[in-house]
Amino acid sequence: MSFSDNIPSLTIQRVREGLLNKHFSALELAKASITYAQAENPKTNAYLTFSPERAFAAAARVDDSIAKGEYVGSLAGVPLAVKDVIVTKDLRTTCGSRILENYKPPYDATAVYRLEQEGAVIIGKTNCDEFAMGSSNENSAFGPVRNPRALDRVPGGSSGGSAAVVAQGTAVVSLGSDTGGSIRQPASFCGVVGVTPTYGRVSRYGLVAFASSLDHIGPFARSVEDAATVLEAIAGRDDADSTSAFAPVDDYHALMHEPVRGMKLGLPKEYFEGLSSETGQVIEAAIRHLEKLGCEIKEVSLPHTKYALSCYYIIAPAEASSNLARYDGVRYTIRADGETLADMYRNTRGCGFGPEVKRRIMLGTYALSAGYYDAYYKKAQQVRTLIAQDFNEAFKQVDALITPVSPFPAFKIGEKIDDPLAMYLSDVYTLTGDLAGVPCMSVPCGQSSEGLPIGLQIFAKHFDEATMFRVAYNYERSTKQ
Ligand code: GLN
Repeated sequence: MSFSDNIPSLTIQRVREGLLNKHFSALELAKASITYAQAENPKTNAYLTFSPERAFAAAARVDDSIAKGEYVGSLAGVPLAVKDVIVTKDLRTTCGSRILENYKPPYDATAVYRLEQEGAVIIGKTNCDEFAMGSSNENSAFGPVRNPRALDRVPGGSSGGSAAVVAQGTAVVSLGSDTGGSIRQPASFCGVVGVTPTYGRVSRYGLVAFASSLDHIGPFARSVEDAATVLEAIAGRDDADSTSAFAPVDDYHALMHEPVRGMKLGLPKEYFEGLSSETGQVIEAAIRHLEKLGCEIKEVSLPHTKYALSCYYIIAPAEASSNLARYDGVRYTIRADGETLADMYRNTRGCGFGPEVKRRIMLGTYALSAGYYDAYYKKAQQVRTLIAQDFNEAFKQVDALITPVSPFPAFKIGEKIDDPLAMYLSDVYTLTGDLAGVPCMSVPCGQSSEGLPIGLQIFAKHFDEATMFRVAYNYERSTKQ
């Protein structure tokens, strides 16, 4: 059997073994991966751009190092895809928006740079909701992404493309971004692992800003170990992002192999009200499994959870309305004509932005306007502090929290697109993690009767990704056949 038949089931470790044992070269793998991804893409529309030249150059560097017997990085030769809100030098970065349709950034995001330093091979950029605003990937100006597990369903959003490519097997790992759930929710919908690190754990230099106090970069992978390898490569202080933290990066691999016996896991009762019964049953079974592994399960309360959705949908649009002011037709790509300067701005933004982005800009501008700032934005920030305090209190009692990721599995394409409020409900369990800035992840834990994946969410204390990975890894290892 040729190695290219195994592309959909590759892991970082298998790529490494294959390269070091000379079963294939990094260049052969890069070529086969891009050919495969291009052939599969019409099914899902998950990639917006392929980057063969960049991939082949990166792969050739890896082959060269191997031939010379030099150190090869932790991601040597690994085919990787990057969400299209993360900038890549000279490689089109659209943010899923018409307004940046042909934008070629002049620099690489720090996360991208670090991955390539470790030998990763970037094969393409993935589709997403416009400027990462959405929960279904239907807000992309370049068409929706289809869930590889059920092609009539959404892959989740906004990092739908990054989740889909890993689920489909056209990339081994990918990068996404999470502001209110955009890594965990699509990971859950597509049946892959998705990690939102602590706020400040990974540099956002080169992540196109949506809501700066909430934005995170994080990995998707088919295993907890692979997600940890990617996070280790991108985590850590970066002088180009003043919000990136100095906190040392743990050796996740060493720590995640510790057993979970004796760990205390909290179930926040607010997250189990109003769950669809099927999702509830699958999550319940996962909890029982962790109990069998020796975890002590304890009910806890995060009493301000009920305000999270309203709080998020004030803060995120407010910050977005400010961040998106830069797309004015003067800089970046598209420009529409107008009689006056103001007309040019208006026409550019009118045809460049889609309806959800316009809705957020209007909501955010309103929430920040004189007279409303205190009533909305300031109030939401105060509520956010209460939500963060809930987590601090809970972590005095338990090591990690376990919840569902989403109240329901992947829904049908078109099902919620005309009802923004129903769409916003997809994020009800994930927004809190971003508001509190704690690390959180989705790990596959079962499926619905229709075969749709369901994810288990794990939250840990600030900068304690190692504990989160430990729970996830022990769960995954003991449930995989
Ligand atoms: N679905 C949420 C929103 O639409 C979260 C998006 C995100 O995390 N980028 O804002």
